[in-house]
Amino acid sequence: MTVTRRSFMAAAAAAAPLLDGAFAPVAPGIAEDRFDPWIEVLPKNLRFNTAQVARLAQGRPIIAVVKNNAYGVGLIEAARVLEADAAVAAFAVVKTDEALSLRKAGIKKPVLLMGMCTLEEGRELLERDVQLSLYTDDAAERVAALAEKLGRPVKAHLYLDTGLGRLGMPFHRGLSWLETLPDAKTLDIRGTFMAFTEEQDFDPKQITRFEQLVREARAHGARLGRLHAASSNGVFHLKESHLDLVRPGIALFGGYPSRWEEERRIAELRVAVRLRCRVVRVERLRKGDSAGYGRKYVAKAPTWLATLPVGHVDGVPRSAVEGAHARIGSATYPVVGAVSASHCIVELGADRTASVGDVATLIDPDDRRLSPNAVAAATGASVYDVLMHLSPTLPRVLV
Ligand SMILES: *Cc1c(COP(=O)(O)O)cnc(C)c1O
Repeated sequence: MTVTRRSFMAAAAAAAPLLDGAFAPVAPGIAEDRFDPWIEVLPKNLRFNTAQVARLAQGRPIIAVVKNNAYGVGLIEAARVLEADAAVAAFAVVKTDEALSLRKAGIKKPVLLMGMCTLEEGRELLERDVQLSLYTDDAAERVAALAEKLGRPVKAHLYLDTGLGRLGMPFHRGLSWLETLPDAKTLDIRGTFMAFTEEQDFDPKQITRFEQLVREARAHGARLGRLHAASSNGVFHLKESHLDLVRPGIALFGGYPSRWEEERRIAELRVAVRLRCRVVRVERLRKGDSAGYGRKYVAKAPTWLATLPVGHVDGVPRSAVEGAHARIGSATYPVVGAVSASHCIVELGADRTASVGDVATLIDPDDRRLSPNAVAAATGASVYDVLMHLSPTLPRVLV
């Protein structure tokens, strides 16, 4: 008789009372006998977060930053939910491929590319109605070349650098640069923006620089379109940065940007994903037995361990052993030993409280200890890494 994984698990479930209910389907589209990790995306939490951001920004429209696979949530899955949300006016990404993917998936709202592109990419982006960011000294020539290829004005936002020192035209050269830009027949300026250092004492200085340049430019007759600056941090902490539109990313996905204990009290956010898999091994260590590469974990007393088939390539930080947890059933267990590429190990304790096939959850909206911010705080990782490093190869299902 051939034993399929399904029949093996069904037999195992029948044999062990601890497995009761372990193989109940957890999410549509995820096989009930799947061990490998998957990601559940929660549209209602995305909608909840956009409403919270809109409230903090007093109803200003949102440019939803969905870069890096929508912070690990899933670019197209997230964009489709956000597209249907009236609070979201537009999308922004950093990479050309992501801008094109949005269009190829049928996303209709405006898309802004906040990164660099070649002229050839620029043409394809504009043909698909993606708006470009301009900040280089040769912006005028680039725009002229693109407008000619396109046969219509180039839609773009002007990116100013007020101190982040990363992208953007440095503000102190901004005025003379603006004068080089072509007129409305060639260049359709939709907006002008900047990004903060997110250094509490310096952000107000940056907004002052931005506003001063905007004032002077407008006095010289420059067209600037709508102004935007606030990422999630600005949405939470700097009202003066809200301008015409706000431009958050992480908050939409349920991550607090910087000082999360304080930010939790300003506005509740709900994590938009669950990271799950099923337990693949449960074993008892004797006193002195070890677990994981490097023998970092040695049992001080007999104890039960469960192995989860999810590792750092999937997005579990290597530092998860410093204090991250996984929930199995109704209990939460510490990650111990070492996180390897495809596995991590949790300590159950003196009792065998989990079984092969049980669902394990490592990121979860309904358990504060399993929020990306809690994982980040416990492990010394950044909340941005905890979300964005969720592997794009894992299947995403809406729940
Ligand atoms: C990533 C990014 C954002 C969004 O930042 P969050 O901190 O995730 O809200 C906004 N603007 C720019 C230019 C960015 O690169």
